[in-house]
Amino acid sequence: MSLITVGTMAFDAIETPFGKVDRIVGGSATYVAYAASNFVKPVQQISIVGYDFPKEEMDELRKRGVHLDGVEIVKDKKSFFWSGRYHEDMNSRDTLITDLNVLLDFDPKIPDSYQGAEFLMLGNLAPKIQMNVIQELKQRPKLIVMDTMNFWMETAMPELQIVLKYVDLLLVNDAEARQLTGQFSLVKAAKSIMQMGPKYLIIKKGEHGALLFHGADVFFAPALPLEDVFDPTGAGDTFAGGFIGHLARTGDISFENMKRGIIVGSAMASFCVEKFGPTRLKEITASDISGRIQQFKDLVSFEIELV
Ligand code: AMP
Repeated sequence: MSLITVGTMAFDAIETPFGKVDRIVGGSATYVAYAASNFVKPVQQISIVGYDFPKEEMDELRKRGVHLDGVEIVKDKKSFFWSGRYHEDMNSRDTLITDLNVLLDFDPKIPDSYQGAEFLMLGNLAPKIQMNVIQELKQRPKLIVMDTMNFWMETAMPELQIVLKYVDLLLVNDAEARQLTGQFSLVKAAKSIMQMGPKYLIIKKGEHGALLFHGADVFFAPALPLEDVFDPTGAGDTFAGGFIGHLARTGDISFENMKRGIIVGSAMASFCVEKFGPTRLKEITASDISGRIQQFKDLVSFEIELV
């Protein structure tokens, strides 16, 4: 089943306790596409880049079955640029620079060849643009998943609240869930977010795993305990790509299958953090992925006799 992904394609400058890169390809849609293309083809990308975005990166994505007809190239502007510095614990970071550049005039057009897609991943992007994409689709996808971040809560909360009414599942981290609702308890925050629109909610907790909520149901998946986390940038988007990639591959949007999707997303995210940027995602094979999913199964499987 086909999947449309919308988000940024960017350059990032990243500083972690393990090192520093001044300019590496990133962006929410880039990570989603690298992760999802392991499970579903085509991945139909919608984004915008400047004259400086590398052609080799586009070719690399195309090779993986990512369609780029919906990626606009602006000849006289620079690509979106983000820079961040991670704290010692690697679970939190400071954004140092967000240069919107081409994003300022992004007005996404959906190519005809993308119409009719069953799955839509609204990657982290201005909520107004996420909304435009939903409105441009002639047929509502079977599942709309949306990611967002604190930056948009601080600069575009009213627009964010509108898009929330149109999506099926929201993906946020614990800090964002608290910021969005003003509730410290994640269970209370989840209830309040599900009243804002989405029927499903995933709250990511970095190295502490992820929670899936739907009505009164809750599911928890751990993160794989890794000896070294090198760079967490893009882990959230990679998680999203693995999650929706699995759902699109199977065509099954039941809560039970979303549980499996969370494991696939967690497995993909565990690769992402092993090297800077999307480097590791470009190296892994199908057998690396199934090996890691097996590690997750082993991590959480136990038997117990109830008295
Ligand atoms: P994550 O670590 O999953 O939050 O994703 C990091 C990626 O998101 C980086 O590659 C950035 O280029 C991109 N990014 C950072 N800030 C924004 C923003 N405000 N809107 C869209 N994408 C962003």
